[in-house]
Amino acid sequence: MRPKIFQPTHFFTVDVEEYFQVRALRSVVSRDEWLSRPSRIVKSIDDLLACLDRHEVRGTFFLLGWIARYHPEVARSIAGAGHEIASHGFWHEAVTSLTPVQFLEDVRSTKSELEDVTGARVLGYRAPSFSIIPGWEWAFDALIEAGYRYDSSLFPIRRRGYGYPSAQRTPHVTATRCRRREEGTFANSRWR
Ligand SMILES: [Zn+2]
Repeated sequence: MRPKIFQPTHFFTVDVEEYFQVRALRSVVSRDEWLSRPSRIVKSIDDLLACLDRHEVRGTFFLLGWIARYHPEVARSIAGAGHEIASHGFWHEAVTSLTPVQFLEDVRSTKSELEDVTGARVLGYRAPSFSIIPGWEWAFDALIEAGYRYDSSLFPIRRRGYGYPSAQRTPHVTATRCRRREEGTFANSRWR
């Protein structure tokens, strides 16, 4: 008899950021103010973890590197409850606003911040505002370069500013060009 393959019907994921770090408030709350704003992350995550625990659900939490640095207890409590720790970038900066070199630095520093704080290995990444859009596929090369194993940024939706309309709706393998070794510099890498 063949071993039964586990086929999940749902994937439960959470993006972990403060309410004032979302793109819509960018012009209203500057980074300099982040530490002085009242935080809601601790209570929100505590409530969510308790709810998930009651229902015996485990999920993937995409955390900002900023959260791991300034609220390490939040990152540790998520990891300690058995959920997967993954990366959501350090500053919640859209991929489309960064150069390839800046993006590589962002995903590298976030990965090491999260791993240092939680002791968990970080394999996954989700771009703030699902900002890997058509034309920005070079980001996959940077993720591979930084040691990530999967990406959760392609949102199969047609919308101004974000979305990747042709994206598949289920997990799949995609090919990248990973040109760094050929060209000697990641800065010039373009996916197409
Ligand atoms: Zn986000």
